[in-house]
Amino acid sequence: MSHHHAIAIDGPAGAGKSTLARRTAAALGFRYVDTGAIYRTVGYHMDFYGIGPRDTDGVTRLIGDVNIEITYDGAGAQHMILNGRDVSGDIRTPEMSAIASAISAQRVVREYLLEMQRDLARRYDVVMDGRDIGTVVLPGADVKIFLTAAPEIRARRRYEELLAKGQKAVYEQVLADLQKRDAQDAGRKIAPLRQAKDAVLLDTSGLDLDQAAAAIAGIVREKLGIG
Ligand code: C5P
Repeated sequence: MSHHHAIAIDGPAGAGKSTLARRTAAALGFRYVDTGAIYRTVGYHMDFYGIGPRDTDGVTRLIGDVNIEITYDGAGAQHMILNGRDVSGDIRTPEMSAIASAISAQRVVREYLLEMQRDLARRYDVVMDGRDIGTVVLPGADVKIFLTAAPEIRARRRYEELLAKGQKAVYEQVLADLQKRDAQDAGRKIAPLRQAKDAVLLDTSGLDLDQAAAAIAGIVREKLGIG
């Protein structure tokens, strides 16, 4: 089996993982995999059928019906196809963020998705972002980066993102939601959000996007000798 390269980017909500992972993947010609979108898609499916994210029996009953396909458009954006329907827009709401976080604590969900994520890394060079990529999904990743920033800064970015998409948002609410989600993700028993021992910590609080991308490129160059 040929060896593929893997770059794992983990961190709390709003640290800039998706944007930076996508840019890094584009620069290297790797495939970008946003694993949060996969949890959101599972949450969307359950919500659609009236199953709450904490309803272990309901989630267990329906998880086998979740067929997810990941595709990419011309701009390199990841699309989530759930049982044949593109739900990429539907999963990007504050409600779906909360549902994804709650449902991601369910063992049956994490087990269902683990092989899907590992399979992608077996088939392609990947930049994969999430919460447990460096610790659980791809512990052997060539490069591991733990991306973070002060909560107020992450909330500010997320707030502006929502406004830019034309959604209504209140900064204080965005901050509260984000902190609740981080606490939930870091506090769960299975695959909690945490920095892998061999991950490089990158705090983007004082960096703009270009500076953060350059910092990541530097880390990748040092570890992989490419880029
Ligand atoms: O990254 P994003 O905000 O889209 O992730 C949504 C939720 O999915 C997170 O709050 C987290 O609970 C869950 N998640 C996870 N493990 C991952 C990626 C996301 O548990 N690898």
